[in-house]
Amino acid sequence: MSKSSSDWLVLPPASGKCRVCAVAHLEELPHDATTLYYRMLFVNSYGRSPTWRDAMAHCEPDVRQVMAKRLESFGIDIDSTKLLGDIKDEKDMEARLKKANKK
Ligand SMILES: [Zn+2]
Repeated sequence: MSKSSSDWLVLPPASGKCRVCAVAHLEELPHDATTLYYRMLFVNSYGRSPTWRDAMAHCEPDVRQVMAKRLESFGIDIDSTKLLGDIKDEKDMEARLKKANKK
């Protein structure tokens, strides 16, 4: 008998955390697509890796628009499964954050 990823036991998120991504965030905001919990649940449900578009599919159009612009300012494609785009490390992230906040 072979085990598939859907057989893995995943503990539910702690109380107060989102049931979908296991991060504490307002319901109207996007899920954190970078969490292992979100990615495992998504792959088990849809058979593919999630994108940021998936993580914000439940959001209002204006929230999705702001989020998409913000991610774009970091060089991240919301339709890519490469959730961190081509960000190399924390130093690179800080530099992009500074640049994005100047806009
Ligand atoms: Zn969430």
